[in-house]
Amino acid sequence: MPDLAAPDLAAPDLAADVIVVGAGNAALCAALAARERGAAVLMLEAAPEEESGGNSRFTAGSIRVVYDGVGDIRTLVPDLSAAEIESTDFGSYPAEQFFDDMARVTQHRADPDLVELLVTKSFGTLDWMRGKGVRFIPIYGRQAFKVDGRFKFWGGLTVEAVGGGPGLVAMLTRAARRAGAAVRYRARALDLLFDGNRVEGVRIRHEGAVQELRSRCVVLACGGFEANPEWRTRYLGPGWDLAKVRGSRYNTGDGIRMALEIGASPYGNWSGCHAVQWDLNAPEFGDLAVGDQFQKHSYPFGILINAKGERFVDEGADFRNYTYAKYGRVVLEQPGQFAWQIFDQKVKHLQRDEYKIRQITKVAAATIEEFAHKLDGVNAAGFLTTIKAWNAAVRTDIPFNPTVKDGRRTQGLAIDKSNWANTIDTPPLEGYAVTCGVTFTFGGLRINNEAQVLSTDYQPIPGLYAAGELVGGLFYFNYPGGTGLMSGAVFGRIAGASAGANR
Ligand SMILES: Cc1cc2nc3c(=O)[nH]c(=O)nc-3n(C[C@H](O)[C@H](O)[C@H](O)COP(=O)(O)OP(=O)(O)OC[C@H]3O[C@@H](n4cnc5c(N)ncnc54)[C@H](O)[C@@H]3O)c2cc1C
Repeated sequence: MPDLAAPDLAAPDLAADVIVVGAGNAALCAALAARERGAAVLMLEAAPEEESGGNSRFTAGSIRVVYDGVGDIRTLVPDLSAAEIESTDFGSYPAEQFFDDMARVTQHRADPDLVELLVTKSFGTLDWMRGKGVRFIPIYGRQAFKVDGRFKFWGGLTVEAVGGGPGLVAMLTRAARRAGAAVRYRARALDLLFDGNRVEGVRIRHEGAVQELRSRCVVLACGGFEANPEWRTRYLGPGWDLAKVRGSRYNTGDGIRMALEIGASPYGNWSGCHAVQWDLNAPEFGDLAVGDQFQKHSYPFGILINAKGERFVDEGADFRNYTYAKYGRVVLEQPGQFAWQIFDQKVKHLQRDEYKIRQITKVAAATIEEFAHKLDGVNAAGFLTTIKAWNAAVRTDIPFNPTVKDGRRTQGLAIDKSNWANTIDTPPLEGYAVTCGVTFTFGGLRINNEAQVLSTDYQPIPGLYAAGELVGGLFYFNYPGGTGLMSGAVFGRIAGASAGANR
């Protein structure tokens, strides 16, 4: 696709007023907001156009947003039909709940100023994106269960972009081009141009040639260091070189490195990341044809077994939205860095769509003994002992209900399951092999409320802004599902508006 609009420059020696590094969700929101302020915008994307869009393109497009009942959902999804409204209990997701979720899952470490912006600007930002042409729909497939003939949403995550991550990136890219932002693909930013006081542009490699591009401001929105095995091992720790990368291979920490090199302040949980259970045989990096479907997120309704045939975590500690991002690490810590997810037919109907893909590592058997010997790498005797104890420990007197934390637990095991426990005895039994898939890293740069990058003296670095994955301070240890896109959108919009106004 050609660049539709040449930047409308205030000064001819500049490549643009605002250079945005990256072309994912955060970068595109920044470009749109900067254009609203009248700034000439140039986006630089390391990937070729066919691979562009970063991790944002690999997502399901699910976005966590504060809303007050069906009225707000209707604002975001104006074409919601009367039949859908009639047959659905959307519930609500109050700001207090979002604040609580961020505080609880990050063990009260999340930066209060950043969280305040994230939560209070979530609805307005999504509505702003809708106004730019991004369409949303309710996540019926993954975030709602049918109860007494009505869909009931659970876990605070209710809307997704039409067409998932690819749809989101396509709609935002269209909007950015329509607004007059230019995009240069295969253009990797290498360093910031810095006069010792302010940032004046970037040095890039574009199709083999190194160039200097001058601008008034730079917005860094080029992801974390999840696709860099050396940095993962250095900061996340030994063994993280062995994790599979769920998304883009282009997020190698460049934006963070460039900023640190000119004196930016590192911030947040540098030894932490978002990591999930991911098919054992998935490729090294994400595959756009498969998207997020290598993930296996129905474990709250089954059990997890390691090479010793033992359980090692409370699979039902909380809704999957609040545990999935930390359980990848737990699997990485198991012998051989793998686990098997085990289900029987009683819960088969609750499995998410990703269990139906062709590229899956799955075994099934009619008897428990036959099944035990099919679980590759697992001690069969250990597994049979575990299952016997498991079946005896399930509190079948408590009703099972997947839409609430039902308290249907086990009792007396070394590691009990807190909710959704079911005996494993209805054939065929099914096993799915998983390893750790890293999504994105939590450590990054320190920003203020205008998304300006702060120096190690805690002063804004003139001309430098940041948004998205490379902002530190929001996530520690864990993460509430759907917050990555919301964070990129909120801080991308703020960064673009601040940079666009600073001309
Ligand atoms: C499989 C998967 C599923 C996910 N599902 C969800 C979900 O449903 N909901 C949710 O909220 N979050 C989800 N996430 C997390 C979400 O993708 C990220 O939090 C979010 O997309 C990050 O947006 P971003 O714009 O900061 O980064 P990205 O979208 O990764 O964009 C970074 C961009 O920078 C470019 N780049 C990198 N280095 C350079 C350089 N030196 N020069 C120029 N360009 C560069 C990259 O090519 C890319 O375009 C998922 C992630 C994955 C991998």
